[in-house]
Formats: sequence, C-alpha cells, structure tokens
Amino acid sequence: MASETGAQLHAFASELYPICRSITGAGTRATLDAVSRIVPLERVEVPTGTKVFDWEVPREWNIRDGWIKNAAGERVVDFQRHNLHVMSYSTPVRARMSLAELRPHLFSLPEQPTWIPYRTSYYRDNWGFCLTHEALQALPEGEYEVCIDSTLEPGALSFGEAVLPGDSSEEILIWTHVCHPSLANDNLSAIAVAAHLARSLATRPRALTYRFVFAPTTIGAITWLALNEAHVGRIKHGLVLASLGDRGAFVYKRSRRGDAEVDRVVEFALGAEGTAEDFSPYGYDERQFCSPGFDLPVGRFSRTPNGRYPEYHSSADNLDFITAESLGASLEACERICSVLEGNVRYRNLLPKCEPRLGPRGLYRNATGRNPSEFEHALLWVLNQSDGTRDLLSIAQRSRLDFSVIANAATAARDAGLLQAVS
Ligand code: ZN
Repeated sequence: MASETGAQLHAFASELYPICRSITGAGTRATLDAVSRIVPLERVEVPTGTKVFDWEVPREWNIRDGWIKNAAGERVVDFQRHNLHVMSYSTPVRARMSLAELRPHLFSLPEQPTWIPYRTSYYRDNWGFCLTHEALQALPEGEYEVCIDSTLEPGALSFGEAVLPGDSSEEILIWTHVCHPSLANDNLSAIAVAAHLARSLATRPRALTYRFVFAPTTIGAITWLALNEAHVGRIKHGLVLASLGDRGAFVYKRSRRGDAEVDRVVEFALGAEGTAEDFSPYGYDERQFCSPGFDLPVGRFSRTPNGRYPEYHSSADNLDFITAESLGASLEACERICSVLEGNVRYRNLLPKCEPRLGPRGLYRNATGRNPSEFEHALLWVLNQSDGTRDLLSIAQRSRLDFSVIANAATAARDAGLLQAVS
C-alpha cells in the first residue's frame, strides 16, 4: 500500500532528481536548500585547501553545460538532457577532434547498452562523457566538437546539519550523502527518508539528541570527522542511511565493533523484514566512522546494498526504480529503530528481594483474573531481569514480548518507584 507519506517521499526525490550534484558546488547547495524546507539545516562551508586528516578539501566544481556536436552541428551527447552525460568533476574543455581522439573520453556500459553510466574523476584532472553503448556505437567516424562548460576553482565543500536536542546530550547520528547527480536510489532515497525522519522526530519528545548530517560522501565524512573529532564521544549510536527506495528487503551492515547496541537494536527492530551482515570496509561513509582511529558505533541501513543491483551507478537508477511503498516502509523502519534506541534503558530493581507488591502501587490491574495480561507479564519480566546489567531489548527478546509492551511496563514500574535507570 502506497502510504501518503511514501508518496511525499517519492515526490521529494523527484524534486531533487534533476539537480546536478557533486561533492562540491551549486547542485549540492541547492539540495541542502531543498532539505532545509523539510527540516531546517545549519549550513557549513569548508574552504578549498582545508587539510582534513590525510586529505584536502578539493576545488569546487560547477557546471553549466556540456555537449558533443557532430559534423552537422547536432548535439549527439547533451548534458541538458541528462546530467550523467558529463563525468562529474570534468575539467573544462572546448575542442574539435576526431572520433579516435575523443574515444578515450567516452564511457558506456556494453552489457547494458541503453543505460548511461555514472562516472567521476574527483582527484585526477580529466574530462569525459558518459553515454549509452547504443549511442556510442552509432557515432560515425568524422570530426566532433566537444564542450564542457565547467569550472574548478577555489570555493568550499558544503554540508548541512540539523540537531534535535533530547533529554540526554548523548546523540544518535543519522548520516546520508548528497553528492550524486540524477540517481534515485543512490541516494535521493535516503536523503528523502532522513529529511522526513528528522521532521517527524522534531515534533515529539526525545530521550536522546539527534544529529542529522547531509554531506558529500567520503571527503564530506572525512571533513566532518576532522572538524568534529573532539565531539565524537557524544555519538551513542549512528546510522548511515543509503539506498532505501528499491524493492529489495532491508539489509543492515553492522558497525566495525559488531556488537554495539545499535547493531543489536537494528537487527531486533527489523525482525524478519531484513537481514544483517558483518562490517566490511567497502560501501558508504561507515568506512570513515568505523576507521580504527574512530571505531564509532555506526552501522549502515539500506535496502539492496551498493553494487548489488545492475541499475547501480547508471541512468537506470531512476525515479521508476524507487517506489513510494519502499520509501514509506523505510521511513517507518527508521522510526521503529529510533524508538527502540531511545527506549532501550537498563534499570535496577529497587526492591529486588522477592516480588514487590504491585496492587498497592496500582500496577496489578487484573488481581482477580485467572490470566495476567500481557502488561502484567511484561512487568514481572522487567522486575525480574532488571539487575542493572540487562537492557530492555534483552528482556524483550528473552520474554518474547513486544519491545513497546516491555518499555511501557518499565516506565510504569519506574514511575511507581520500583526501578531506577542505570547509566
Ligand atoms: Zn554511489
């Protein structure tokens, strides 16, 4: 069922789809502006040349046009028709050349002859065009005129952050990348989910603080970590969101630690709707958060992971490849994960010697009934297991009761003075 929310997410991805994003430049800023209309972002601009660990913030890339004209002056490849046609970070070029001279700058996918590939050349000066293999094969010998009207100049790398304060200053980091041009699953899907997750969390009480970051991948994460190194200790849990709009099932990639609380919580919250796999140093920005010098409790939440679907990094990753249903269900899963992360408290039973009397404390609603209610069952489990070492998630798993029922029972017992949270 396509929920109204799912349709909103798809509409937002559609609004962002035409924008030519890269790791820097006007397209990325326009994307952050659009996200700011869903959840206000604080914009950070980091100047070109800033040293960030072993890297440096690159020159800013902007593009206005790009084309290849045949001898008749017709545009046979045209950036205006699809922004994947120009390799991202192409240096400016204006030249006439033969097909043989042009060929090393042309990229296609022979195995998918009707798709345009996505290529980048961030850290090596080069220029190129991407086109369908069919179009490439149809180019006759002869002279061509090529133009890439781009600039690579000192500027800045942009990212946006939204912080939603909670009762605790400990944070849940929600991270997603914003540097791909017209590609829908990778990663407009996660931009849409993250923005709407922030909007939904903004309207309710929060036990933990949320920090949403929308940044270019790799260099953006490295830059953010370099600027925020002193503060990463406040990250209690983190999720890199990516590829959340395709029709595949959920896949959670564990943090490098493998047994972080976020790892346990996500696997639990997804249940039969997803699978979990071990960390690997390949993928999205979890690579930076889980580098050994940080080793943060950050996992990655996606549907079909990068590189495991043929449409990946091609023009076939378009708005038809992502669905409102998948986007809506991804947002719901994120909300579920966040509510377990926030509610997964460890308590100590303050009257641990024998069972405390529940009736006088207003906790035993069904004193004369034959079968205790689910709530009462949950209460007994929480009181029995809360010795300060076990969190509510482990109690929910052991009791096979719903996490929300366990959490409600724990809150009631805490309010009745029977439990105290352990930090
Ligand atoms: Zn990608």
